[in-house]
Amino acid sequence: MKVKIIPILSDNYSYLIIDKENKFCSAVDPASPEEIIPFLEKEKIGLKNILNTHYHSDHTAGNLELKDKFKCKIYGPDKEKDQIPGIDVALKENDTLKINDYSVKIFETPGHTAGHIIYWFEKEKVVFTGDTLFVLGCGKLFEGTPEIMWNSLLKIRNLPKKTQIYCGHEYSKNNADFALSVEKNNNKLIERSDEINKLINENSFTVPTTLEKEIECNPFLRADVDNIKKNLEMENASPVEVFGEIRTKKDIF
Ligand code: ZN
Ligand code: FE
Repeated sequence: MKVKIIPILSDNYSYLIIDKENKFCSAVDPASPEEIIPFLEKEKIGLKNILNTHYHSDHTAGNLELKDKFKCKIYGPDKEKDQIPGIDVALKENDTLKINDYSVKIFETPGHTAGHIIYWFEKEKVVFTGDTLFVLGCGKLFEGTPEIMWNSLLKIRNLPKKTQIYCGHEYSKNNADFALSVEKNNNKLIERSDEINKLINENSFTVPTTLEKEIECNPFLRADVDNIKKNLEMENASPVEVFGEIRTKKDIF
């Protein structure tokens, strides 16, 4: 599966899933047409589908212009269909669809927004997580409680460990610094943070990450891990309480 990473706006990631013959693609959250169209024109690639993860404008602001130009079909969350410009297909939990020739399953992952969805390419083991899960981080809880978001993150955590994760923003450096503030005695995290700093110094992308790496290092997927609970002096707290505490700490980090 060919995924072209296109950094857009100040720190967003948009992705193009390109077919084998390089003739057409599907775009995940292509919010900035002026940063996407030049690539498509240069490579002579058409745009068939837009896959939106949630309604925020840094993910959907390109919809109408791109639809007008390429006549593409726009997919987005059913619960946010009134806020997704130009939406054609509204998606719900467990819906399946064909994108290029891939079969894709939808998970609803509320928390950042109430209707947020993620796109799981089952056979290829690739997931586009939008603003639900980031490299070493998770989205802010604008429209959800810690419990809602924790349950959304568990859906991702239950995918196969080899899963490649493409997220909606490049926040990895700040997330790594924060993760170390919660779990500086996690050797895997220390290594991962070094790796991220190296990538950023080389001007490389820090995506995709893998679910295995995130399970080992991302504090937001580790709210039920003893080491984290101990570090936060929350040994007797529930995972939701620990998750909520980590999220609150991150909000003021
Ligand atoms: Zn967002
Ligand atoms: Fe965003």
